[in-house]
Formats: sequence, C-alpha cells, structure tokens
Amino acid sequence: MVLLDRSRSDMEQLATHDVLTGLPNRLLLQRRLDEALKRREQRAYNPELAAREGGPGRTAGPGGIAVFFLDLDRFKHVNDSLGHDIGDRLLKAVATRLRDCIGADDMLGRLGGDEFLVVTEEAFEAVDAAVLAERLLKALEAPLMVEGGHLLHAGASIGVALASDGADDARTLLRQADTALYAAKSAGRAQYRFFSREMSERAENRLSTEANLRQALSIGSFELYFQPKVRAADQALVGAEALVRWKHDGQLVQPGAFMTVAEDSGLITELGSWVLEQAIREATHWTKLLPDFHIAVNVSARQIIAPGFIERVRDCLSRSGVPADRIEIEVTESVMVDSARSLEVLWRLKRLGVRIAVDDFGTGFSSLSYLRQMPIDTLKIDRTFVQDLPRDSAIAAMILTLGARLGLEVVAEGVEREEQLAWLVAEGCPVVQGFFIAEPMPARQLEARFLHPLLMAREDEREGRSA
Ligand code: C2E
Ligand code: MG
Ligand code: MG
Repeated sequence: MVLLDRSRSDMEQLATHDVLTGLPNRLLLQRRLDEALKRREQRAYNPELAAREGGPGRTAGPGGIAVFFLDLDRFKHVNDSLGHDIGDRLLKAVATRLRDCIGADDMLGRLGGDEFLVVTEEAFEAVDAAVLAERLLKALEAPLMVEGGHLLHAGASIGVALASDGADDARTLLRQADTALYAAKSAGRAQYRFFSREMSERAENRLSTEANLRQALSIGSFELYFQPKVRAADQALVGAEALVRWKHDGQLVQPGAFMTVAEDSGLITELGSWVLEQAIREATHWTKLLPDFHIAVNVSARQIIAPGFIERVRDCLSRSGVPADRIEIEVTESVMVDSARSLEVLWRLKRLGVRIAVDDFGTGFSSLSYLRQMPIDTLKIDRTFVQDLPRDSAIAAMILTLGARLGLEVVAEGVEREEQLAWLVAEGCPVVQGFFIAEPMPARQLEARFLHPLLMAREDEREGRSA
C-alpha cells in the first residue's frame, strides 16, 4: 500500500514537473495560475478577506498578477556549438539564477526548451512588473558558470502580461505573454515588452496573412511586375527587376505588406521559387532580343540558405537556355555577412556564372570588408541616398567612386526626379531605375513601352546605316 502511494506520488511528480530542472511544468503552472486568478477574483468581491490578507488596496486593486514569459536568446547557439550536455547544464544554472532573483511567493517553472515562466501575485501596478522584468533580464545577462567550468552568457527576452479586470484565465494570460515575448524578440532581443491589444491584433493579422498566403500559393494568386533598368546616359533598356505582387481581395498587394510574414513562416522558399521560375520564363524572350538585357531577381536571406536553391537556379537556366550571366540575384548586405552557409551559396552561384548585386547598398552593414571577399558584380545605391540629390550627394558620390575603383557596376535606385537623373548622368552613374523612368509594370506593358520601341529604334538605325 505504501509502495502504491509512493509510486502514485512519483507519477504525480513526473506529470507536473520538469525532469531536468525539477521545476513545475506547464500543466502545474497553469493550474496554479488559475488558482491565483480565482483567489484574486474572490478578494475583489470580498473586501473583508482582502483586509485580513494584507489590507485593503493591497489585493483588491487590478493588476495584482503578472506573468513573465522568458526565452533565452543564445540557447540554440550554446546547444549547437557546445552540445546538449552543456545546454542542459545551462538550463539548470538558469533555473537556479531565476529562483534566486524572485520573491519567495513567486512561481517559477519551465515550459519546455529554453522557455521559463515566472508568475507573481505582487505586481500591484505595471511598474512593479517592469521592475521585476528588469531584474530578471539583468540576472540572465550576467555570465553563468555551469558545471564543468564553462562560463556562458544566456541572455533573455521577456514578454509580460498583467491580469486585468476582465475574465482572465491562465491560458489567455500565457498566450498574451507569449505574444509580448515575440514582440520583444522582434524588437532586437535582450529586452522585455508588455502585452498590448495592438500586439494581439498584429499577431492575429500575422496568422491570417500566413493562412491567406498559403492559399494564394496553392491557387496561384501572385503576379510578377517588372521595373525597367535603363542606361543613365540615353535611357536605353538594359534590364528589369522582377517584383512580386499579390492579388488579394481584388487588390494588388505590395511586398512590404506580406514579405515579413512570408519570411517568418518559411513560405518565402516556395514563393521565391515561383518568382525565380516565372521571372526567367518571361525574360527568356527579352534576353534573346536584346544582347545586353539582364533580369534581376530579389532573393531573401532565408531563401538563399534553403536546401535546393542552387539546383533550382541551375534547373531554370538549363530549361530556359538563358545564359547565366543574364541573371542577377539581388541580396541585401546582411546576407553577405550572415553565415558561412550563405557565403558558400553565393560563391556557388558565382561559379554558375550568375551575377550578384548588393541591394539597398549602404543601409545594412557598417563594414565594407566583405566587398573584397564576396563575388559581387553590382552595387545598388539605396533610394535614401538618391532622394536628396543633388543637394545632399556625399554618399551617392562615395558609392560611385567605390564602385568604379572596385570595378563594379553601379545602379541608382529610386530615381524620381529629373535633377536626380541629371546629377547621376553627370557623375557617370551607369544605370538607373526609379519612378522617373518607370514604375514596376506587367510584362506585356514592359514590352510595349520599352522593349518594342528600343528594337524599332535599333532596326531604324541599322537601315539608316545600310541605306
Ligand atoms: P527592392 O528590391 O529594393 O525593390 C525596389 C522597391 O522600390 C520596389 O518596391 C519598387 O517598386 C520601389 N521603387 C522603385 N522605384 C522607386 C522610386 O522611384 N521611388 C520609390 N519611392 N520607390 C521606388 P516593392 O515592389 O514594393 O518591393 C519592396 C521590396 O520587397 C523590394 O525592395 C524587395 O526587397 C522585396 N521584394 C519584392 N519582390 C520580391 C521577391 O520576389 N522576392 C523577395 N525575396 N523580395 C522581394
Ligand atoms: Mg531589389
Ligand atoms: Mg533596393
């Protein structure tokens, strides 16, 4: 009988605690949080009880309970580089550190992975929760000595949710804290964020956009637009940049509204493959008609390291027969310095003969050393440096000089006014792109407005010469 009791309590312990740290798990935390919420509600309706417990105002006011959702910023890195064993020891050390910095009545638990939860019933006002969040952050910023002598920096981000007057339950609070955690991470880590209504709207919006994008991919509701790139001196067509559009609810949605969701959800890989194929398919004809025409395709960081990317590029090239050097892949500076993997992919692309452009040049990264190490063909002057030409021209001039010295092609993006173009022509910028020349447009329109007139002009020229 004793044995039976013992094994029952062992089972209970197993079901409600995390084996590694011995801390309460999600199940138990949720149960205890629900109990705390119930107590709080009873006190709110029973001032006598409130007074007995700690004086009026102490417990009857709103916001007594705060939930902190913590996630370590560098756990994956530790796990990947030092192994799971060290990873486990780090988690234990974190658990101890957290225990030491919270109050005796506060709850601490591990939700799984590198996620921890702290609950306090003593956050009478938001500022109390903020103070505790600061303390938790600071505690995890300091290096941790784990068994075996490793000194590790865990670092954490925290999402905070406060129990408000409404009908709160543990699950809702946990979800809110999780949403706030996401916001803290997106804001650059090592910080805390309070949950807010807009945050949950944004989160819902993100989810529904993701679902809509998924559906759009399966039924094919994307379209490619092309923005001409022209030689600055005479505005002859030399190429086009493919820019994706989403046909949604009878409107054409710009990438700014869905690209982040496509990237975060991983849908960018599938979308990017479609863009690449479609762009090359459209451009096959153009590259045949114009010997100097190239097609530029934007590729995001996540896409470039996805398995099979190189193979896909190679497939598209061999199927279309377009020479590799007529394709230009546009990547942002961050991709250049991102990881060994993306560098390897860029070099392999280069070996295929594909051209590589640095998009939004000058906005992403403060070191220029990668320019010497990377297989780059083109710099695209970001439109923020073109915007104030000719008045404010220092950076555009510097990029033109840099490009000339390094033997790179330079394209000025976002040319909107005549005086900008005039400055660029005078300074010898070879290629320009922007609303002043033309906005992005469907393929047939590009042919009618840019390709056919150019072909006709060349034809006339030839006839003129032979006559
Ligand atoms: P980007 O590659 O720098 O593309 C240039 C953006 O500037 C385009 O916006 C274009 O419409 C806009 N633009 C062009 N000329 C002007 C101008 O004179 N003035 C102003 N104000 N804007 C101009 P869009 O099409 O909304 O694309 C935004 C960004 O989305 C692109 O920036 C690119 O980073 C990303 N993107 C677009 N299509 C794709 C794609 O197929 N794959 C990936 N991975 N990213 C894409
Ligand atoms: Mg681009
Ligand atoms: Mg750009």
